[in-house]
Amino acid sequence: MTSSPPDTPFSLADLSGTVTAGMPIALAELGDLVRIPSVSWAAFDPAHVHRSADAIHALVDGLGVFDNVQISQAPIGDTLDLGQPAILATRAAKNGKPTILLYAHHDVQPPGKDEDWDTPPFEPTVKGDRLYGRGAADDKAGVMAHVAAIRAFVEHAGGDFDLGLVLFIEGEEEFGSRSFKNFLRQHQAELTADVIVVADSDNWDIDTPALTVALRGNVTFRLTVRTLDHASHSGMFGGAAPDAMLAMVRLLATLHDEAGSVAVDGLTSAEGESPEYPETQLSQEAAFLDGVTSIGKGSIPSRLWFQPSITVTGIDAPSVANASNTLLPSVSVRVSARVAPGQSGADAYAAIERHCLAHAPFGASIVIDDVDSGDPFLVDTSGWAVTEVKDAMALAWGVDAVETGIGGSIPFIPDLVELFPDAQILVTGVEDPDSRAHSPNESLHLGVFRRAILTEAVLLAKLNARD
Ligand SMILES: [Zn+2]
Repeated sequence: MTSSPPDTPFSLADLSGTVTAGMPIALAELGDLVRIPSVSWAAFDPAHVHRSADAIHALVDGLGVFDNVQISQAPIGDTLDLGQPAILATRAAKNGKPTILLYAHHDVQPPGKDEDWDTPPFEPTVKGDRLYGRGAADDKAGVMAHVAAIRAFVEHAGGDFDLGLVLFIEGEEEFGSRSFKNFLRQHQAELTADVIVVADSDNWDIDTPALTVALRGNVTFRLTVRTLDHASHSGMFGGAAPDAMLAMVRLLATLHDEAGSVAVDGLTSAEGESPEYPETQLSQEAAFLDGVTSIGKGSIPSRLWFQPSITVTGIDAPSVANASNTLLPSVSVRVSARVAPGQSGADAYAAIERHCLAHAPFGASIVIDDVDSGDPFLVDTSGWAVTEVKDAMALAWGVDAVETGIGGSIPFIPDLVELFPDAQILVTGVEDPDSRAHSPNESLHLGVFRRAILTEAVLLAKLNARD
């Protein structure tokens, strides 16, 4: 046994040894969770999500540290329909100690086509230093990081401790967290905490931990351009009658300037610190083909985290195989925009809508519907919890943490901020740039997994020692 230095309330070496000893069990339990295809999307069997909730309930109950462990469902919006089952476990703080809430989600994205996977998506498979499977990283590894960290911390604390603990494992993050806000309202008293850890993000690389301090918001909508009342022969009218595809292409082209930066008046950018991120790293991580160059202006992190982006992610038009010689009367696309920290999703949508209506070419009719938006998020990094978690990361990884943004959103975070304005929110995670969350061959780096568990165990020990 290593003894603690006088100024630390725990022994890092002991805690690290406990985490390492617990890895085989944590990995086996993670594998059992990956085997349950808990896809939360409406078209998939909800029985699997319930099975996954039951399995996690049993794991959490087995920790033996919570006063109460329950599975709960909240209604979706104003309906009577219930969202997917979440696990909520609570243990009250004693002797004036803080309370920490640990969040992760146990539902997963659909696997996509089996043939795109090198190993079966719901068969956990270790190859080299990675565990492959849908949910192996996002976010069943987040669930297991909490469980394994609590287990190691409790063992290290000799079974008793004063820190308040809340564990909240959501069941429908991948399907828009539709009952999330109602769940927060229903359980507001039980969920109240000084610090909220959201373990659903990534790390800088497999050797460098990251604390996510900025998240872009998002806006999506369907954009339909109509120019003609019906299709007609392109040989007869082409060259004089404007087809909807031409109008759509020209309208979409106005959304960006020559460099590929967003060119929509009213969309704003933010300023922020960013680590070194060379263009070569971007082209490798995003799999650029030879000769392809980046788009936008400013540093790469600024483009990814602090500036808006607009992408067309789908198009309704005749397929190439079905194309005939006609002028298309109508074309629809799905537009997906990312909103810089500092601007609300609603404001950003209003700016893009104004732009589209003002730039309709040839008098085309523009219809926008199916609009969805979420607000961005910027962490106040001056809070004590940020210092504590960055210390914990440095101890567990042996390398200082970098503060990063992520280009994507975690749409429920604005709900957390709204309902728990006094909580300090820490966005951490178990992923790395090769994790491929949501994609075929999703995987978890086993070294990152161990360091994420140790980070959290250290954080629990540090908060338990706070007055
Ligand atoms: Zn996730």
